[in-house]
Amino acid sequence: MSQPVRPDPNQQRQTPSRSAVFLDKDGTLVENVPYNVDPAKLRFTPQAIEGLKLLVDHGYVLFIVTNQSGLARGLFTRADFARLQAALTGLLLDQGIPIQDVYLCPHAPPTNKLEPGCLCRKPAPGMLRQAASAHHIDLPSSWMIGDILDDVEAGHRAGCRSVLMDVGNETEWRMSPLREPCIKAKTLLEAAEAILAAEPVTPPGEAEDSIGKSVVFKTVPPQPHLLGLSF
Ligand SMILES: [Mg+2]
Ligand SMILES: [Zn+2]
Repeated sequence: MSQPVRPDPNQQRQTPSRSAVFLDKDGTLVENVPYNVDPAKLRFTPQAIEGLKLLVDHGYVLFIVTNQSGLARGLFTRADFARLQAALTGLLLDQGIPIQDVYLCPHAPPTNKLEPGCLCRKPAPGMLRQAASAHHIDLPSSWMIGDILDDVEAGHRAGCRSVLMDVGNETEWRMSPLREPCIKAKTLLEAAEAILAAEPVTPPGEAEDSIGKSVVFKTVPPQPHLLGLSF
């Protein structure tokens, strides 16, 4: 009688972690229709499909991370959003673009400074961290793409690099070091090309400097000015 095969914990630890691209939905992946849950109104942003195909072809795992305060506001239900999500991920899969998982924040922003906010609404990094731990994602070699600076900040707080889709959707431009995008792009194709052209980040444990010593891998949020990627 053979023993049931148990997963070897050492092997699990050795599972290579993958690089991801976290995508904001509204205004980044699809045109922004406020609080929309009607699949018929889904329109991809220009060259979104081309950009995502490029990322998939280069081995990036894709996630959607989206703030959906319409749930807290009672404007639509979880079932409404689930229908929209199924339609959206189905359309992408038809194009050969698998979405690994979709994370949403159902909460409303705090109404005053004393009210505690949730840990998932961007600019908080909760959704990215959750995805990373559930799917073995290496955050320092991963990217967040979004159309406002809250997306950029969420990416940096999670330890990723960032692309701002600079298409006029950010209107406040409240700047801080965490809100400085590594790259600005006009379309998802431009974003994907810039990501592929960016300097790779060596995974921890593999980095060696020129004299052969291990390099301490930094998990602090990337500093765009040090990456030389701002333009
Ligand atoms: Mg957006
Ligand atoms: Zn939340």
